[in-house]
Amino acid sequence: MTGWLAIAGLGPGDPNLVTPEVTAALAEATDVIGYIPYVARVAPRDGLTLHPTDNRVELDRATHALKLAAQGQRVVVVSSGDPGVFAMAAAVFEALEAGPQAWRDLDIRVLPGITAMLAASARAGAPLGHDFCAINLSDNLKPWPLIERRVRLAAEADFAIAFYNPRSKARPDALIRVFEILRETCRDDRPVLFARAVSTPEETLRILPLTEARAEMADMRTMIIIGSSLTRIIDRPAGPILYTPRSAP
Ligand code: SAH
Repeated sequence: MTGWLAIAGLGPGDPNLVTPEVTAALAEATDVIGYIPYVARVAPRDGLTLHPTDNRVELDRATHALKLAAQGQRVVVVSSGDPGVFAMAAAVFEALEAGPQAWRDLDIRVLPGITAMLAASARAGAPLGHDFCAINLSDNLKPWPLIERRVRLAAEADFAIAFYNPRSKARPDALIRVFEILRETCRDDRPVLFARAVSTPEETLRILPLTEARAEMADMRTMIIIGSSLTRIIDRPAGPILYTPRSAP
């Protein structure tokens, strides 16, 4: 039996948003590895071993996946959203780079998924219709001053900005500081989208001006998108549409 390793994105939550390519890989897999809530999204079946692990062990998980594939197993490492966006694909390649030469002969594929930023943007309209960037607000893997610098420069460059991991119990006040930095550069009425648990039954969407944005409005299941200076709101009975025009003056 020839082993392989697929690093797959499960999308934002709705099973309809899992790509057919990912579904096919899961159907052929012998082993599925990932963070507990993501592995829980894979249906158990005969011949499939599920390996749910805690969130803080990315490199161990990646090494485990490479070892299993080297033994001839068909392994899928699962992430939510896209595996290349603040997720397992880079962790697997770090382990590959540091590991034995023989691992470089393995069949390894990254299978994309719909990342939270794009799912949230689609629900709200098209806030990412012009130039944008994405910033992860978690300081688990980088120093806080670097995050502040990137937020400030992105706002000065007038990007729409998608914020991943905006708030955790370990850093309840970090988001307050981020809003302070944004208020130094952006106008008070700059629209901010709080998109929580997009494409799940718990989904909530909220659009409000920067002056009214509060850190308590976000949790670990929330994605925040702040518009650029061009981002606008179309009011209509069915709910507002948030969009950024295609051209800048
Ligand atoms: N690889 C994932 C991101 C992992 S970081 C992806 O591509 O989407 C985890 C963060 O993603 C969360 O803290 C939250 O900010 C965001 N997120 C993931 N799923 C989400 C969803 N369904 N709705 C809103 N935000 C989500």
